[in-house]
Amino acid sequence: MKIICDWENCKELGKYKAPLEKDNSKKYRLLCLEHIRLFNKKWNYFENMSQDEIEYFIKSDITWHKSTKSFSSSDNFFNILWSNALEDKLNIFNSSDFKNFKKSKISQAEKDAFDIMELNYDAKMDEIQKKFKLLVKKYHPDKNNGSKKYEDKLKKITLAYSELRTRIGKR
Ligand SMILES: [Zn+2]
Repeated sequence: MKIICDWENCKELGKYKAPLEKDNSKKYRLLCLEHIRLFNKKWNYFENMSQDEIEYFIKSDITWHKSTKSFSSSDNFFNILWSNALEDKLNIFNSSDFKNFKKSKISQAEKDAFDIMELNYDAKMDEIQKKFKLLVKKYHPDKNNGSKKYEDKLKKITLAYSELRTRIGKR
């Protein structure tokens, strides 16, 4: 039985699965290569993915050529995404969506560092530097009658700052 692309008025063979919903339902429709490409352009793949799935996906960006399909055979949303991504032709990893998404993605270490410095996750380097100076002044023993009660906090802040300087400074 030949399956025809589900796109309106298309007569090509439907070979590629396009998820219908961003959940784990197994609903999909089959599209031809041309239309799965169109579909992929419009679909925000990364919304509603769990942290683990996203991280696995990003890691695969580096290794996917050698990657074995390690996901179960169920056709849930992520699986469909995954098999689409493995199709070199679909070029998901080279899409601007994916690149922007990866750029906007920050690691847990980075988040922790931002939290310690009481900064938003999108703070820029100059903002980080300003905040660091402020915090150092605030928690320095000299500003607290020589008390070292903030010593640990100050240490954490310094570590957080150097973490962010290393990571953000390169961007
Ligand atoms: Zn089609």
